[in-house]
Amino acid sequence: MTATLRLLAAEFETALGADSVITDRQRLRTYECDGLAHHRVVPAIVVLPETAEQTATVVKACATARVPFVARGSGTGLSGGALPHAEGVLIVTSRMRRILEVDPANERAVVEPGVINLDVTRAAAPHGYYFAPDPSSQQVCSVGGNVAENSGGAHCLKYGFTTNHVLGVEVVTPDGELVWFGGTTHDAPGYDLLGAFVGSEGTLGITTKIVVRLLRAPEAVRCLLAAFPGVDEAGTAVSSIISDGVVPAAIEMMDALAIEAAEAAVQCGYPQGAGAVLIVELDGPAAEVEHTFGAVEQRCTEAGAFEIRIARDDAERALFWKGRKSAFAAVGRISPDYIVQDGVIPRTVLPAVLRKITELACGTGVRVANVFHAGDGNLHPLVLFDDAIPGEAQAAEEVSGAILDLCISHGGSITGEHGVGMDKSQYMPRMFTDDDLDTMQRLRCAFDPAGVSNPGKVFPTPRLCGEVPGRHKAPHPLQAAGLAEQF
Ligand SMILES: Cc1cc2nc3c(=O)[nH]c(=O)nc-3n(C[C@H](O)[C@H](O)[C@H](O)COP(=O)(O)OP(=O)(O)OC[C@H]3O[C@@H](n4cnc5c(N)ncnc54)[C@H](O)[C@@H]3O)c2cc1C
Repeated sequence: MTATLRLLAAEFETALGADSVITDRQRLRTYECDGLAHHRVVPAIVVLPETAEQTATVVKACATARVPFVARGSGTGLSGGALPHAEGVLIVTSRMRRILEVDPANERAVVEPGVINLDVTRAAAPHGYYFAPDPSSQQVCSVGGNVAENSGGAHCLKYGFTTNHVLGVEVVTPDGELVWFGGTTHDAPGYDLLGAFVGSEGTLGITTKIVVRLLRAPEAVRCLLAAFPGVDEAGTAVSSIISDGVVPAAIEMMDALAIEAAEAAVQCGYPQGAGAVLIVELDGPAAEVEHTFGAVEQRCTEAGAFEIRIARDDAERALFWKGRKSAFAAVGRISPDYIVQDGVIPRTVLPAVLRKITELACGTGVRVANVFHAGDGNLHPLVLFDDAIPGEAQAAEEVSGAILDLCISHGGSITGEHGVGMDKSQYMPRMFTDDDLDTMQRLRCAFDPAGVSNPGKVFPTPRLCGEVPGRHKAPHPLQAAGLAEQF
């Protein structure tokens, strides 16, 4: 550890207490990766602040010493966003788990960033409310992580992503100042800094309090599981349900390989012989749900569903969801290694893109299981490989990249909800021009001119603030001073 980092660790121990600072190499390894486990970096120091003020103290010290820092919630991110910096500080929010206020009358709650997503709904449920963003990881992921990634989930088709459910955030800026963006009202004058912060993946500072919107729990919920011969028919059903004017709370699709994995893992008992299943859930006023449910069933039948099961109660509904919610982990039953890809396409091109993914898989011999939020065209191809077999990991990476190219060429995007992080920064130039990326960098530099907040994420070739693309005759002053490097 460098002398600067040793001094920082001592400063943190004085300010936060020794049990809030980790420098022991073995203990540091707990934090070496997030959900993207094939990338690992051991941080130099981990700190576990308990308050916003302690977080600000840590960030200010990092800023003064020009030491990079990375925020971490529960570490379930799938794009390497919380991957530590080897010469930096990892700031973990797991001791900031207080739900500070539940205010049903104003339909909002105030929470600390380490609060687990599902705990917000648990706290709001006795009042008849819930927190709508529901990533499949909601039993473990943090609200701070949800804000940073602008996370989605099965029910975001109807209710929108995290950004639609955050009214305000208290933020420690990268120079250690505590500020608020947004607040308790639904709109604020001036630039939408809250909008810029949500989804910024820890590059604009660390959120320490979040005002979330609560929604009234729906009067009725109905769910069906429809089995189709293949993904083409299921994709057609998705388009036809939505073009009917029905916006289900969720429409999720799994293909044959994903079903095989889920059956092996949790025995969800989906219809035999299905090439694809759709789970469609409707919620809202009972009369409306009743009316539209019939239309959904009809569209599924017209598109070729050979079996439709309707959940009779909550237990059966949970069983439908069990296969879907366990699908990522379940793939471990049929393949030793896999990449969870995340891309978006307009839902109208779902059948065409899924066909092309199948062609890609057949042409390369790499197996791809598809399980995804079909209603909003958010694909999650799971690209299977065995790392022990030479060349398989490389082939899987190539197929994974080719799938993103398919998404872009069909009018979509390289990520739907898992963020860019470290993993996808290399793909940013496939979607954005140099000018686009430069504009984003300028925004980032307005918050973080020294580039200390989660450096190396989101941008493919981080430029120093104020730099223009192209050849440079002399090193930037920060480079010359050995405070930053360019690569
Ligand atoms: C099995 C599984 C299923 C998943 N399903 C979904 C899904 O359906 N939808 C979905 O969107 N995602 C999903 N994810 C991805 C992941 O759970 C989400 O991205 C989640 O929001 C990350 O939260 P976290 O607390 O684990 O964040 P982390 O992984 O700890 O961090 C994620 C990013 O947020 C930043 N960050 C964390 N806390 C803060 C803070 N307080 N201030 C500023 N930046 C911060 C980190 O620096 C990092 O860039 C899934 C992951 C798994 C493992």
